[in-house]
Amino acid sequence: MGKRTERIETKIVHAGEPSPRIMGAVNIPIFQSAMFEYAGETNYHDLKYIRLNNTPNQAALGQKLAALENGQRGIVTSSGMAAITTALLTILSSGGHLLAQNCLYGGTHDFVTQDLGTLGISYDFIDAKDPSSWESKVRSNTRAIYVETMTNPLLEVADHRAVVEFARSHGLVSFIDNTFATPINFRPPEFGYNLSLHSCTKYLNGHSDIVAGAIIGRADLIEKVKHRLDHFGGSLDPHACYLLHRGIKTLAVRVHYQNASAMQIATFLRNHSSIEKVNYPGLKDHPQHQRAAELFDGFGGMLSFELKGGQSAAERFIERTTIPIIAPSLGGVETLLTQPAKTSHAGMSPKDRKELGITDALIRMSVGIENTEDIIQDFDHALKAA
Ligand code: PLP
Repeated sequence: MGKRTERIETKIVHAGEPSPRIMGAVNIPIFQSAMFEYAGETNYHDLKYIRLNNTPNQAALGQKLAALENGQRGIVTSSGMAAITTALLTILSSGGHLLAQNCLYGGTHDFVTQDLGTLGISYDFIDAKDPSSWESKVRSNTRAIYVETMTNPLLEVADHRAVVEFARSHGLVSFIDNTFATPINFRPPEFGYNLSLHSCTKYLNGHSDIVAGAIIGRADLIEKVKHRLDHFGGSLDPHACYLLHRGIKTLAVRVHYQNASAMQIATFLRNHSSIEKVNYPGLKDHPQHQRAAELFDGFGGMLSFELKGGQSAAERFIERTTIPIIAPSLGGVETLLTQPAKTSHAGMSPKDRKELGITDALIRMSVGIENTEDIIQDFDHALKAA
């Protein structure tokens, strides 16, 4: 296949597809075969076997995902956490040190704080918005820096240009979890990030029916990650690959709609007399709005907010809404509401949550693809009783 130069909406549909089509099939078939006939491979990692992450459904997805972010190479994994842990443990080993953003997805935060130490790896948290504070945390054994595109659930935007520059000047591998932004809104390899990670469970699949992950970035690093993944075994099965492949094909239409809908809902909430605070990078009064506008092609479908009446008002509001589903996770076609203090960030101590600004009253919203006016009307009604 020749080098594609199309825009992302076109690449979503066509990049990485088998060429020629397999027996003319418009969609890649599911290759439900654990192993494939020996074809003269000389290296264990090249044998075609599902755990070795190189069978046709896995390979096609890897190529599509790399094309979407303009990364050199991509690989899919059995979950977002498999992507994150495998990638980190490819670069970090006993005696190494990690700089990690202080407000991370709960699973990643718990992995860093609970598991890295048992493997002899140390870490320090950094405020990713304040580059001047990073230098003092670097040690001679620091190997990597890890951030998220937008933080969960406060939607803060790190100084990504500074992260990449800092990593370059200190010889660190730069990691970013790009799940919230998706390749539609931000493509980390274009900005110089070495490894971009995704929970494909979220927007990339978009239908809340599988768990999957991906790692995109520099080819030499992905090759090393593949070897670790081959050993750790977090491989995506062909059927889940097929569902993810199908889900990705509508990524652009979903995310463009979710960007627009989230902006309207955030604006409605921002102007409502019962609302104390709205966190959405698309709002002009968001502290990193200018940076987000410069870096991102869209502000995303995630927002969070607090009601003036605090936690009890938040609970009354949530109970009165009729369209959103009260459930963790995000990025699907259905609008979801959660209270991070009780779900994604329950593993954090109340003191740490307070320091980061995650109050018990905070509500996180994942905007779906329902009619925007219907959601606003539903919220308006629920807020009257809150
Ligand atoms: N990264 C982010 C930002 C997430 O929100 C999640 C899950 O909620 C993950 C990673 C982990 O992904 P998974 O549940 O697919 O392992």
